[in-house]
Amino acid sequence: MTADDSTSVLETKDEGPKIPDKETKFDVVIIGAGPSGYTAGIYCSRAGYDTLILSGILPGGQLVNTTEVENYPGFENAIMGPDLMIDMRKQCQNMGTTIIDDEVVDVDFRRKPFKVLTGTEEYEGRAVIIATGANPRKLGLEGEQTFAGKGVSYCATCDGPFFRNLELVVSGGGDSAIEEATFLTKFATKVHLVHRRSELRASKVMQERAFNNKKIDFHWDSAVIDIKGDQKMQQAVLKNLKTNEETTLDVGGLFVAIGHVPNTKLFENQIDLDDQGYVVLKNKTHTNIEGVFAAGDVHDRNYRQAVTAAGYGCMAAIDVDKYLTESANKQE
Ligand code: NAP
Repeated sequence: MTADDSTSVLETKDEGPKIPDKETKFDVVIIGAGPSGYTAGIYCSRAGYDTLILSGILPGGQLVNTTEVENYPGFENAIMGPDLMIDMRKQCQNMGTTIIDDEVVDVDFRRKPFKVLTGTEEYEGRAVIIATGANPRKLGLEGEQTFAGKGVSYCATCDGPFFRNLELVVSGGGDSAIEEATFLTKFATKVHLVHRRSELRASKVMQERAFNNKKIDFHWDSAVIDIKGDQKMQQAVLKNLKTNEETTLDVGGLFVAIGHVPNTKLFENQIDLDDQGYVVLKNKTHTNIEGVFAAGDVHDRNYRQAVTAAGYGCMAAIDVDKYLTESANKQE
């Protein structure tokens, strides 16, 4: 997949139901368009609720930056992440969900109906599902900014093809790092995998794949401490965290794959978050505010799979249905 491929998700935005002029009041507003948001959309629309998904600027969530997804049930021979997300989006639209590719800049959950604001519009929802997912974590090095787009990347599947015939560094020890390192060997002459411990966190099956790949060199107990270059990144400085020995590698790129940070800044003063910023669920998919629900990686730090995110989207939609039905009964 290239960076261009990921935009194909956006290209579907003309399909599906047209947004009626000035329709800003919905039964359910879903913030986010990854597997959880889309699944919630499918279930809410199918249950007869007037449902809006505000998808953000790059709909599809993290799967847009993934190549083959082998572990999402229903696909005998795997499916490309972006294709899966396009299909989910179309399925949602076929159910009648309104999808707007706009970014939410503020929310007001203090009074009902809840308000969800983009730069230009204010939408109302009787219920809201937060499905904003998570973003790549950064190493915190100055060079990450200096060389952003000039060697430093957070998405091998987006940017890998730009790094042909170069030596590369991947930082991290989880499934993402191993997946990225393995993918990058298609283009790179060598991939240096730098991990802060002496064993990987990644699943055994992925580890085996990487250990058997002759193009991957492992740097254990090590961290990337500096990124150097002129116009583009040319070197990565590694430090062995046990011996303090520093090594400079001549490399053309650094791919950072050290986990994610939940996208919850918007909700900080209204929704209960844990010490790492994940939404705290009170009961099933309910947040601390009655009528506001959360689904997917925004609250799930344990499983973080497309299929679990989709499952949470389904659960949130069912909880929304119960909540809206009970609210309607109370008013009668
Ligand atoms: P992760 O499992 O949380 O792993 C993050 C890795 O980065 C860990 O090895 C961690 O080191 C390291 N790390 C964290 N902060 C760091 C820092 N500041 N400096 C250096 N290293 C740091 O995250 P992930 O790999 O993105 O995976 C997230 C979830 O998605 C997981 O559940 C994973 O199984 C899933 N996933 C699945 C697939 C697949 O099945 N195809 C692909 C990708 C991801 P420590 O090990 O020392 O903590």
